[in-house]
Amino acid sequence: MQTLSTEQRTFFETAVSTYQADLAADTSAQAYLTSRGLSPADAATWRLGVVRRPLVGHESYAGRLALPYLTPAGVVNLRFRCIQPHNCKTVVLWVDEKGKEHNCVKYLSIDGMESNLFNVLDLKKESPYIGVTEGELDAMTLSLCGIPAVGVPGVENWQDHFGRCLADFDLVYSFTDGDKAGKAFGRFLAREAKARPVRVPRGQDINSIYQEKGADGVRALIAG
Ligand SMILES: [Zn+2]
Repeated sequence: MQTLSTEQRTFFETAVSTYQADLAADTSAQAYLTSRGLSPADAATWRLGVVRRPLVGHESYAGRLALPYLTPAGVVNLRFRCIQPHNCKTVVLWVDEKGKEHNCVKYLSIDGMESNLFNVLDLKKESPYIGVTEGELDAMTLSLCGIPAVGVPGVENWQDHFGRCLADFDLVYSFTDGDKAGKAFGRFLAREAKARPVRVPRGQDINSIYQEKGADGVRALIAG
């Protein structure tokens, strides 16, 4: 794992505080979170923000949701999610000199940063099991439903030590999206973390189940 300098930690802390303040003044970003079932209190728990006043080097994240990676030692990383009401994959943001179209990228990571597990504070919770999701939003959602969970920022960002973080739990559940990519990720987690795949209905993810059926609907996935 990479260690951060004091300057980097201070920079992340300033960034997170700034983007939290930006969120507090931004009704459209608040509405986005509400639409995903996340209350202002939930946003405060995870120190979520929106980038309206980007810090130097963060200009390309303007308008995005800021997802801080919180640890007992403070903020160690950030990712930025597009919250525009569009399908990122079909939106052409710019065309390069060769005529190649570049789509919006749903999640942006900070260049040069190693990836981290999201929500590692849940690893300290007293629980015989832990959930693993793809992405931050589903990890927060599971946690809200009383299921401790960590998020992997995409299968391509898996690090070997993630598996060791999960080794203390009797049972690891993988909650992956109900689509082809989700199934592949589930197989990957079964191999890397001995995770038991939880069946998520086709076309759904944890957050959409939460929006539709609440915490009971999510908990029912691992009942019985
Ligand atoms: Zn987008």
